[in-house]
Amino acid sequence: MNSLIKLSHEIRELEKEVALCSRCGMCQSVCPVFGQTLHEADVARGKLALLDGIIQEIFDNPKGAIKRLDRCLLCGSCMVSCPNSVPTMELFLKARIAITSVMGLPYFKKTLLKGFLAKPEAFDSLARYGAFFQKLFFRKPDQFHDASCAGLSSIMIPRALASRHVKNPADVPFHKTVLTKLEKVEKIEDKIDNRIKVAFFYGCLTDKIFPEIAESFLYILKRKNIEAVIPVGQGCCGIPALSSGDFETFLALMRLHLELFIDEEFDALVTPCATCTFTIKKLWPLFAENETALKAKVDRLAEKTMDASEFLVSYASIEPLEVNVPVQPGEVKPSPQKITYHDPCHLKKSLKVFKEPRMLLSNYADMEIVEMAGADECCGMGGSFTLSHQELSIEIGSKKAGNIVATGCETVATSCPACMLQIIDMLSRKNLKIKVKHPLEIYANHLKINADQ
Ligand code: SF4
Ligand code: SF4
Repeated sequence: MNSLIKLSHEIRELEKEVALCSRCGMCQSVCPVFGQTLHEADVARGKLALLDGIIQEIFDNPKGAIKRLDRCLLCGSCMVSCPNSVPTMELFLKARIAITSVMGLPYFKKTLLKGFLAKPEAFDSLARYGAFFQKLFFRKPDQFHDASCAGLSSIMIPRALASRHVKNPADVPFHKTVLTKLEKVEKIEDKIDNRIKVAFFYGCLTDKIFPEIAESFLYILKRKNIEAVIPVGQGCCGIPALSSGDFETFLALMRLHLELFIDEEFDALVTPCATCTFTIKKLWPLFAENETALKAKVDRLAEKTMDASEFLVSYASIEPLEVNVPVQPGEVKPSPQKITYHDPCHLKKSLKVFKEPRMLLSNYADMEIVEMAGADECCGMGGSFTLSHQELSIEIGSKKAGNIVATGCETVATSCPACMLQIIDMLSRKNLKIKVKHPLEIYANHLKINADQ
C-alpha cells in the first residue's frame, strides 16, 4: 500500500501536463503503433488517459497497465504533431520511472541494466562473449545479406531473437583502437590550422557493431584538419536504462560521462548516433533538473552536443566532390548510383536535423539522392521495443523496407546505428541486397576517392 501512495504522489507531479491533452485525437494519424493495431490504448491519447487513472489500473491490473505504457516506440511523432504541445515523451518516460521505482525491474532486465550496461567494462565483456557465441551458433553471416546478417539458431537463443537477422558485432570494437587514433591525431597536430576541437562520443552500437562509422568520422576530421579528443572509458548514453524506468543506471551513466568529458577543452561534443545526440542534448538536462550538483555541467555539455552531419556542415566546408568514373571509348557513361535517406526520429523530430545529413549525400557526380515515401516515419526499432514487441516492430519495419525498395535505390543511408540495425534486418529477411550505410561512410568514401584521383 505504501508503494501505491508513493506512486500516486509521483504521478500527481505529472497531472498538470497530462491535463494539457484535449483528447483531440490528432496523434492517431502519426502514431506508428496505432497505425498497425488501431487500438486506442496504443496512441498517445490512450496512454495519457491511462496516466489519469493509473493508480486504480495498477491496483486492478498492474501487469496490464505496464504493458500498455510499454507499447510505445518513444518516437516523438505524437509530440511534434500535438496542437497543445503535450510533452508526451517526457510524460511516458517519467511514468515508466515512477512505476519502476515501486514495482521494480524484471530480473533479466535488472541484470542486464545494472550488472552490465551501468559498467562499461562488464558491458564490453558481454559484447565480446556475445560476438563469440553468435559466430559459434548462428548461421554464416553472408547467408542473407552482404552486410553480415545472421539468421539465428533457435536452440540457444531466446525466442524473441530467433528469427531476427542481426548484424555481427565487429571483431575489434572501436574503443580498442582509440589510443592508436589519438597518436595519429597528435602526429598531424603541427599542421592543424583549424582552431576547432571536437570531443567524440561514439556510442555503444558504433563502438561494438559499426566501428566503420567512427573510422569514417575520424578520417573526415583528419582531412579537414580538425583536432579530436576521444576520452577513454566511454559507455552507453543511458537511453536503454531510462526507457526501462531505471533512473539509477541512467544517472550513473550520465555522471560517468560528465567526469570523462567535462574537464576536456573542446568546442563541440559530436556523436554519429541520432539517439545518443538526442539523449545527451535533451534528456540529460531534462532528467538532471533535480540534480543540483550536476545540472550546470550537464547543461554546458548539452549545449555543445551536435550530430556529426550538423557539425560538419557548420564547421567544415562540405564541398562538391567530383568523382570521375573512367569511361573507355565506345562505352556509355554509367548512370549515377541511387541513394535514399531514412530520417531517424530522434534526429528529425526531436532535434530538427534533416537537411545536414542529406548535404553529406548529395554533392557527388556519381550519386543521386532519391527521396522515399515516409522518409521520416519510424523504422520500428524503438530500442528494446524491437524485442519486446517483435511482431509490431517487424510490421512497422516492413513498411519502411517497402518504401526503400520502391525508390529503386541501391543504398539506403541513415544517421542512427539503431535504425541501421533494424533496416538491415528488414531488408535481409526479404533477401534484398540493398546496402545500409551511415552518411559519414558515404562522405568519407568520396573524400578518399577524390584524394586518390
Ligand atoms: S494530439 Fe495532443 S492533445 Fe490531441 S489527443 Fe493527442 S496528445 Fe492529446
Ligand atoms: S511516442 Fe510514437 S509510438 Fe509512442 S505514442 Fe507517441 S507516436 Fe505512438
